[in-house]
This record gives sequence, C-alpha cells and structure tokens, in this order.
Amino acid sequence: MAKKKKSELKGWKLIGKTMRKSLSIFRYGIKALGLVWQTSAVLTVAIAIFTLMSGLLPAAIAYVGKLIVDGVVLASRSGLISDRNLALSYVGFEALLIVILAAAQKGLNVSQSLLRVLLGQQVNVLILEKALTLELAHFEDSEFYDKMTQARSQASSRPLSLISRIFGLGQSALTLLTFSGLLLQFSVWAVIVLVLAAIPSFIAETKFSEHSFRLFKWRSPETRQQHYLETLLAREDYAKEVQLYQLGGMLLRRYRDIFDRLYDEDRNLTIQKGIWGYLLGLLSTGAFYAAYAWIVIEAIAGKISLGEMTMYLVVFRQGQATFAAALTSIGGMYEDNLYLANLYEFLEQPIPKSEGYITRGIEPDGIRFENVSFCYPESTEPVLKDISLHLKHGEKLAIVGENGSGKTTLIKLLTRLYVPTSGRILLDGVDLNDWDIDVLRKRIGVIFQNFVQYQFTVGENVGVGDVERLNEYQEWEVATEKGMAKPFINNMPKGFSTQLGKWFKGGQELSGGQWQKIALSRAFMRSQADILVLDEPTAAMDAEAEMNIFNHFRSLTKDQMVVLISHRFSTVRMADKIIVMADGKIIEQGSHEQLLATDGRYAHLFSLQAAGYK
Ligand code: ADP
Repeated sequence: MAKKKKSELKGWKLIGKTMRKSLSIFRYGIKALGLVWQTSAVLTVAIAIFTLMSGLLPAAIAYVGKLIVDGVVLASRSGLISDRNLALSYVGFEALLIVILAAAQKGLNVSQSLLRVLLGQQVNVLILEKALTLELAHFEDSEFYDKMTQARSQASSRPLSLISRIFGLGQSALTLLTFSGLLLQFSVWAVIVLVLAAIPSFIAETKFSEHSFRLFKWRSPETRQQHYLETLLAREDYAKEVQLYQLGGMLLRRYRDIFDRLYDEDRNLTIQKGIWGYLLGLLSTGAFYAAYAWIVIEAIAGKISLGEMTMYLVVFRQGQATFAAALTSIGGMYEDNLYLANLYEFLEQPIPKSEGYITRGIEPDGIRFENVSFCYPESTEPVLKDISLHLKHGEKLAIVGENGSGKTTLIKLLTRLYVPTSGRILLDGVDLNDWDIDVLRKRIGVIFQNFVQYQFTVGENVGVGDVERLNEYQEWEVATEKGMAKPFINNMPKGFSTQLGKWFKGGQELSGGQWQKIALSRAFMRSQADILVLDEPTAAMDAEAEMNIFNHFRSLTKDQMVVLISHRFSTVRMADKIIVMADGKIIEQGSHEQLLATDGRYAHLFSLQAAGYK
C-alpha cells in the first residue's frame, strides 16, 4: 500500500516538474514586456488591443454563424419576409465582424513591424552602452565576449519574437476560452475532454523545444567558428593571404564539416519531433472527432438546432487550428528565452566602477612603479615581476627586450588598462587607481603596435587623438607636421578630406609606414597630454623618416614624459633612461653610455645591431 502511495507521489512530482519546466518558457516574458513597454508604450497598447480583438472575434463570428443557420431554417419554414430579413441582417453582421477582424489583424501586423525596428535599435543601443562600460579584460575573456557576440547577433529579432509569441499565445488562449464558453452550453464534458487531449501535445512540444534549446547553447562555439571562417573567406583584409597560401579549399571544407555535423543533429531532432508531434496530435484529433460525432448524434436526435451544430463544427475546426498555432508559438519561445537569458546576463553583469576621484597630483613626481607584479586574469604565471622604476617630468624612457618579455604589458598597466596584481604605480604621488579615470586618460597619449586604422577621413583619423577637437583643421595641421604625415597628405587629391580604407566609397589605402605616421600624428594631436606612450611607433617607417622624427623628437616632446618601446638602438639611445627587460624583470637600467659601460645584455644587443649596419 505504502509503496503504491509513494510511487503515486513520485508520479505527481514528475508531472509537476514537467509542467513547471513547460511553464518556464514564460520566465523572460515579463522582462521582454518591460523592454517593449520602454521602447514604445503606444505600440504596446495598440498590440494588446488588436490582440484582444483578434482573440475574441472568432467566437463572436461562430455565434453569428449559428444565428444565420437557425434564421435560415426558421425563414424557410415560416416563409415570412421579416424572418428572411432577419437572416439576411445576420449575414450583414457577420460580414461586418469579418471586416473588423481583418482590420485588427492588419493593425497587429503593422504595429509589430514598427515595433520590430524600434526594439532592434533599442536593444542594440543597450548592448553598445554596456560595451562602453567594459574593461579591456572583459573583451579578452572569451566566455564574456561570447555572451556579447550572441547578444548582438539576434538583437533585432529575438525580443520582438518572444513578445509576438506571448501575445499570439494570449490571443489563442482567448479564442480557445471563448470557444469553450460556447461549447459549455453543449456539455461541460466536451470541454474537459478537449483540454485533457491537449496536454500531451503541449508537453511534447515544450520537451522538444527544450532539447533544441540545449543544442543551441552547446553549439555556440561551433557557430562562432563558422562565423570566423566566413570572415576569413569573405573579408578584404584576409583575402591576400587566403589566396596566396591557397587556404580557400581547406577553410571551406572546415566550414562544410561544421555544418554537416550540426545538420545531422538537427535532422534527427526534427524527424523525432515530427513523428512525436504527429502521434500525440492524433490523440487530440481523436478526442476532437469523438466529441464531434457526439454533437452530430445530438443534432440528429433534435436535442440541438442545426445552427448550434454548425457553430460547434466551426468551433472544433478553428479550435484545432488555433491550438496547433499555439503549440508552434511555444516551440519558438524556448529559443527566444535562451536569447533573452543571455542578453540579460550580459546587460546585468556587474562592472566594478572605477572609484578614483583625484584630479590633481600631490607633488610633481612623475611616474613611479613600486615593486609592481602582474598576472593576466585566469593565469597564475606572473608576466611582470617586481618592477620598480621612476620617470621624472620631461624625461624619456626607452624599454628594450626580446619578444614576450613584458614590455607591452607594462604599458597596459601604465595606461591603466589593467591593474597591478601587487605593488603600485604612482603618478605625481597619487596611485593610478585613485586618479579620476577621465582625468588620467586625458593626460596620456598612446600608440599601440596595432593601433586602429579608422575607416574615416584622414583629418578624422588624426582628430580622434583629441575627440574634443576632432574637427579642428588647425590642430590637424600642427599634429601631422610633427608626425611627418603632412607631405603625403598634401599630395592626396582631397587632402584631409580623403576617405581612408576600402570599406566605403572612394576610400584610399595607405602603406604601413604612412598609417604609422597618421598614428603618430594622432598621438601628437593629444597636445594636452603630458605622458606619451609609444609602442614601436616607427617600425614600419623608412629609415629617413625615422631619423627625421627622432632628430626632432626631443624638441617635439619637450615637456612630456615619453615611454618608448623600440627594437632600434638608433632610436633608443636618445632616451634619458633605458630599461632592459627579460622574462618580466628589469635586468639592466641606466643611460645609453652607462649601459654600454656595464657591458651587459644591452651592450651585447647594441653591438649585434651595429655590426649588422657595418
Ligand atoms: P612584449 O611586448 O615584450 O613582446 P607582452 O607584454 O606582449 O610582451 O607579453 C608578455 C607575456 O604576456 C607573453 O608571454 C604573453 O604570452 C603574455 N600575454 C600578453 N597578453 C596577454 C593576455 N591578454 N592574456 C594573457 N597573457 C598575455
């Protein structure tokens, strides 16, 4: 006995769990609704009203159908003009209802189309606003980056899709409810049978959707790979190498292989879903038609009128169609939910705000590293170890060291793209973390090795160095003069107005060295910055240009602190201070002459390069 009870209990629990799971598709409904409301309250209300109308009218139309048939039967029996006119007026009334229904459905379509555009824009803006608050570390964290890419990829369609489906489901529910109301006059049992018959299909549909929802989630890395392959194959900046190394065939094969694998999974799922859907649908259809036969029998026995029979017939037919539509909506809701879950995970990710508020230094001490060590997030291997150095105002520092020795990382810490794991960095006596981040950023001008080649005009490419003076022609002139870009810009047909890059019409491509001159000019554009950070700023320039720049470099940057990474000793030697890095540590420091006298690593590298030029 007890055993039976226990298994009964288990059975109920299982059903409860399944139902709860099935209902979880509504979880993000409220949030999506909030989003839609924020986007356009007017359109949301319009959609709600049109949905209500589209949900209620079918039952009214079915009821008028009954009045028509009963009216026709009555008029043909009585032969009275008044009965005939009444029947005709019912026909007119039905036509009117149909016209209203059509208007409601059109209205629904139009409102949804408008909302789709607005909502897509709203979600994209939300995502981009969030992206602006992120730190570099977030962009370098693949999991987080995934979330952002996924959020962006379907921003225009998913939120509205969920809303349409929720409203659609509401409409179907309303129609089915009013149909049930009509059916109730016939028998409460008919209604109960129909509801019970619907449950298996509902569960099957949600179960399969859940499955495809999981597939969707697992797949995200594969989909990303596919996107990446598409990019390699179809973007202009990769075309050169893909063609010359003849990578096309291999890349396309990989692209196909990924698809084939995904398709196999998809096909099985789709077939299974089809078969189960059909079988469980049969159950519902069986129940529908049993009830239908029952209605026919009652009509033959004269217990219900012909009009009523017609109405029930319509109710059954349309009820089934509505029901099928509702099931399809539910199918898509899982994926919509997945999207929204991902979107909100991204939007709600807490980003620690920079707490610094100091806008002035305590003393004009310059830059000071005190025992700074650093590990990249998710790595335990220190990339910088116990770095200490001091750079006074106006001093120039050069960093030398082999690839991977930590030079760029040191710059990332100095520009506060990352925070030291231990130790501290001071600027004018104040810890970098305590500086107001905007004030700090304004003080720094920087060129990274992989600086951005904006697909803007030449002038704007320079102007972005100081966004507040983005379009000031005078400033462009001064900056490009310093960056040695002026001569070739003057030779361009449209000068500063020349569009750069190949993405937009009339765009012109520059050579690597020319781009570097633009980047250098950009750094000089930031004339209010008193710290200039240059990572290999002249590596792509010809020897003469480089010489020219460094001959003037001291006068160009008289009041600025400069941190320069370079592999060219001709450049490095003019610095006041040189540090030699190896394996994350400073192994030598001093002026060019001091380091040569020490006869260590620096002297060795210098003599190697000097020998090369002999
Ligand atoms: P350098 O500029 O001297 O060539 P880097 O500072 O770029 O060297 O790199 C130092 C070390 O830090 C390298 O071993 C590199 O693998 C590692 N590294 C660089 N960037 C990252 C990153 N974003 N995440 C994890 N490790 C990194």
